Amino acid sequence: MSLDMFSLKGKTALVTGANTGLGQGICVAYAQAGADVIGVARRSCQETADKIEAFSGKFTELIADLSDVSVIPHIVEEANKVNGRVDILVNNAGIIKRCDAADVTMEDWDSVININEKMVFLLSQAFAKGWLADEKGGKIINIASMLSYQGGIRVPAYTASKSAVMGLTKALANEWACHGINVNAIAPGYMATNNTENLRKDGQRSEEILSRIPAGRWGTPEDIAGTAVFLASEAAAYIHGFTVAVDGGWLAR
Ligand code: NAP
Repeated sequence: MSLDMFSLKGKTALVTGANTGLGQGICVAYAQAGADVIGVARRSCQETADKIEAFSGKFTELIADLSDVSVIPHIVEEANKVNGRVDILVNNAGIIKRCDAADVTMEDWDSVININEKMVFLLSQAFAKGWLADEKGGKIINIASMLSYQGGIRVPAYTASKSAVMGLTKALANEWACHGINVNAIAPGYMATNNTENLRKDGQRSEEILSRIPAGRWGTPEDIAGTAVFLASEAAAYIHGFTVAVDGGWLAR
């Protein structure tokens, strides 16, 4: 077996939420694996660009607010201009709102569902249409969560959206696997990013979480790099519809 099957050389990857956290980590990992990377974000991705350009990787920034579905044709058009085609789509951008279930507003519910669930479907659909037409296949990697498996506490919209992401990953795989499109997901455990900042600031919750992680530490963006590269590579060609937990053992407990 050649390790070349794990390489992303010659591929173009589009990652949403590329300016920070897990999205930034995936962008850097993809560039290190040889891909040209397009980062979608609603603000500057300069830090991500600097990290990639430091080893002469190629990074293109595409500014778009993913709360607005009208940006989708623009994203597809601009992304396809970079190298003619996007081969790998990572639906990483996501938000979380912590609130007692009894107090969740419709506005907050919609904002979480729109980015974490609806946009994941619509972007997948938009790129898959091109892949179905040119018959060259593609890779979709959705970022799920421990709350694709569990209920969580005080984050009902987030849990609903991430449970949907795991279901959608299976549903899309069932339709598109025979067209050479791999749809899979990664369920990160508790990772030290902006998403968990408030949780980590809450001494009691932070201690409760940490003491339940078998690995004994919060995860980092680097922790999901290997899985993200693997799922985007030819080495994962026969993996369809699966959500891989990268969680320091959280689900095993
Ligand atoms: P993060 O640092 O908050 O990153 C979230 C990313 O999504 C940011 O780039 C953010 O941009 C972007 N985003 C949010 N709303 C957007 C919008 N309207 N338009 C464009 N981009 C938008 O947190 P993270 O942990 O890296 O999160 C990445 C993914 O992992 C999310 O889907 C999250 O749910 C998932 N996840 C995280 C954990 C964890 O423990 N950290 C665990 C499981 C799953 P801004 O910087 O502009 O807000």
